[in-house]
Amino acid sequence: MGKLISPDLLSPPSTAIFTITGVSIFMSAGLDLGTCFWGIACLEFLDFLSDSLMEEISALVHRHPHKLYMETIGSQNKGYRAEMTVVTYCLNRTEIDDKLKYRVLLSFGQHGRELITSELALKILSILSEEQFLPNMDPIILRGTLERLVIKVVPMENLNGRKLVEEGDLCERRNGRGVDLNRNWSVDWGKKEKDYDPYEENPGAAPFSEPETQMMRKLCLSFEPHIWVNVHSGMEALFMPYDHKNTTPDGSPSQRIRLMLEKLNHLHCKDNCVVGSGGGSVGYLAHGTATDYMYDIARVPMAFTFEIYGDRTASSKDCFKMFNPVDHTTFNLVLNEWSAAFLAMFNMSTHQIDELRSKTSDSDKLVSIEDYMNGYLMEMTSRYGKKKEVLELGMQEIRTYFRLFVLSSVLLMFMFCSRISKSSRPIVSGMPL
Ligand SMILES: [Zn+2]
Repeated sequence: MGKLISPDLLSPPSTAIFTITGVSIFMSAGLDLGTCFWGIACLEFLDFLSDSLMEEISALVHRHPHKLYMETIGSQNKGYRAEMTVVTYCLNRTEIDDKLKYRVLLSFGQHGRELITSELALKILSILSEEQFLPNMDPIILRGTLERLVIKVVPMENLNGRKLVEEGDLCERRNGRGVDLNRNWSVDWGKKEKDYDPYEENPGAAPFSEPETQMMRKLCLSFEPHIWVNVHSGMEALFMPYDHKNTTPDGSPSQRIRLMLEKLNHLHCKDNCVVGSGGGSVGYLAHGTATDYMYDIARVPMAFTFEIYGDRTASSKDCFKMFNPVDHTTFNLVLNEWSAAFLAMFNMSTHQIDELRSKTSDSDKLVSIEDYMNGYLMEMTSRYGKKKEVLELGMQEIRTYFRLFVLSSVLLMFMFCSRISKSSRPIVSGMPL
């Protein structure tokens, strides 16, 4: 178990030669990373890989207090404790609670062996803080996008699993006690396919049994993001829901999202990325995933899983090579292309929501994002029939109450009239006397 860096206990940025991490340190030492990771001599480097990365992120946050802040959260269950760092970005921190901004939640390193994903977290944060720049990115457009966003980044969701990898268990994807954090969520939890592999996909004792999943759920429910991306490696893909079935949601918003992903694929993945539902494209169905929960339960309208790198030619025993680039050129290429893809996605997503909003609003009146998204979600649910059912049920009830009201009014009138006529009879009959 490695210690988690607290913002107050930080040393200045490490003196790594290329960027920041152990990966870079290996490369600078001229070591073949693929074989190095299997060698005893390398394990001493691996020991501080995640610590070095987190130190780098923390130092970056401290250099940009007006745009970034970080917090460490922790949780435990039956003696198993987990912690994670959350970095929040807002171009101007005083506007962090502005409800008109779009909220983005990004998680990296949910699987321990996918080290490259956490490197991308740092790269994106470096660009957001304007310490690094992308060559083909228009700075005015970028700023225009960023001033509309609040972004929360979890650079290393599965720190305990990552530590196991750094101790030499290079194929470990699960958390510190053997649970796959991307099978521990509640949508279709625990269902096992024929090719179920407990080593890879152990869903845990129950949905949200793991502290890491509990923390991520809490973060999502309090932050209420409009955009969620779960970042993985092992292949190149831009996935949208669902993971537990081989279809995407029905309706035009879903089709638009798919078109957006296809555009991203063309612009930033050289058309090499698989685009579509996770369950329909990856070759297997996945049950209890984070993205399905975010979409189905937390109602995050744009929920994705991005797979940023994979080497299909690597031996199945060489997990490091399967999930992470092993040369400096590919390493930088992956980080540059994918950070550009994320920033383009932010831009496209905000425009897409704006576009939908202008089409759905009756007039030019301004609608808050919250109101708009509520309307958008209602539109989404109606396509699945749920909202329609609720509405129809409500209308039926109103009609029934109205009929009862009319009936009881008629009865009351009748009783009232008959009472008047009964009570008036003696007076009339007594008139001749
Ligand atoms: Zn993964």
